[in-house]
Amino acid sequence: MAEPTAPKPYVVFARRWRPQTFDDVVGQDHISQQLRNAVTSGRVGHAFLFRGPRGVGKTSMARILARALNCESGPAAEPCGTCSHCRSIAAGSAMDVIEIDAATHTQVDEMRNILASVGYSPSSMRFKIYIVDEVHMLSKHSFNALLKTLEEPPPAVKFIFATTDPQKIPDTIRSRCQDFEFRRISAEDIVARLDHILSREEGVEAEESERRAILEALAWHAEGGMRDAQVALDQLISLTSGKLTLAATRQLLGAIENRQLLDCVRAMQGGDTARLLELIDQLVESGADLENFVKSLMQFVRDLLILKTAPRQTGLTDLPSTWMEEVKAALPSLDLGLLLNLGHNLFTLAEQIKTASHIRFLVEFFFIKLTAAGSARSIDSLLRALESGAPPAPAAPSPPGGGGARGGGDPLASPAPAVASA
Ligand SMILES: [Zn+2]
Repeated sequence: MAEPTAPKPYVVFARRWRPQTFDDVVGQDHISQQLRNAVTSGRVGHAFLFRGPRGVGKTSMARILARALNCESGPAAEPCGTCSHCRSIAAGSAMDVIEIDAATHTQVDEMRNILASVGYSPSSMRFKIYIVDEVHMLSKHSFNALLKTLEEPPPAVKFIFATTDPQKIPDTIRSRCQDFEFRRISAEDIVARLDHILSREEGVEAEESERRAILEALAWHAEGGMRDAQVALDQLISLTSGKLTLAATRQLLGAIENRQLLDCVRAMQGGDTARLLELIDQLVESGADLENFVKSLMQFVRDLLILKTAPRQTGLTDLPSTWMEEVKAALPSLDLGLLLNLGHNLFTLAEQIKTASHIRFLVEFFFIKLTAAGSARSIDSLLRALESGAPPAPAAPSPPGGGGARGGGDPLASPAPAVASA
């Protein structure tokens, strides 16, 4: 009888899709190129600082650099990925590549222990490489210990520091590092990568007509972080039995339908408190997370402001392309002053939500205050009303370029809010 074939070992999704070469790291080409050049020219410093938002490829890049430097057929601009050094670094089991999460090693003694081994030669590889994640979390004493090492670095030792908060790193440390700034990854790049992954995951399919919208929703939610986007895709796949659908995606992300965001801004513009309260009720009823809604609204208002003030910079927004036309069509009826005011106030709301116990009430108060109490009333509409001698209607739509020459500029044409009719 034939031996039963062993099941293919399951490799965790995140590890399966972790970038393996410089080319795999999405959205950071400027850094990949510099690092390749440094490795091939042999001009590699003792310490690197990788800074940037979370989930954009800093630690992945650090591991790839470690492999490039230590590959048996290297140092090489592209590590081979198959030699024992490359494989053990990828698996996190290499003796000479030491990964430290500073968030859990803030005690001076622990850092001292780690640095005590710095003076010893690498056990089998070319370089001993310390990858310190979230390095800004180290204590002052740990930084002092580190500084002593950086002042006289042993020849075969490299440090790669990663941080989301470079301001907290002492200048004395920063000035001794080669500095690399990682960028937030564009929604378009994230969609492309997710598309690549989805097409190669065995036995996983998306509803064809919804495929693009699903990937855009995942990318938009991740706010420029590739790791978060991949984690969400992984969750979606494991939660879905048949084809991936947009409905399941929205449910997973607690996603706010795009339309609700636009509805919300329109209701603000019209001073329509009743509509806003209705929207909040719908969100709560559908199980959406209000904190997430506020975050999405903030991002949406930011995108509207970019489209409004710098229309040629469409690329800076994260708006899904399938939705762009509708948003652009709505733009002329939205008032710049209102958007600025809304954006500003949303920051305060987002802060308050973090510690609030009754989030729904807080969000309701927020919208009532901004509409019924009249703070949403724009300067434009007040000025126009003064000019025409009519009583100002709250938050009247503003035509493009200001003034009332084109349609939609009549303050009296906007829906009368409840408070004005009282
Ligand atoms: Zn290799």
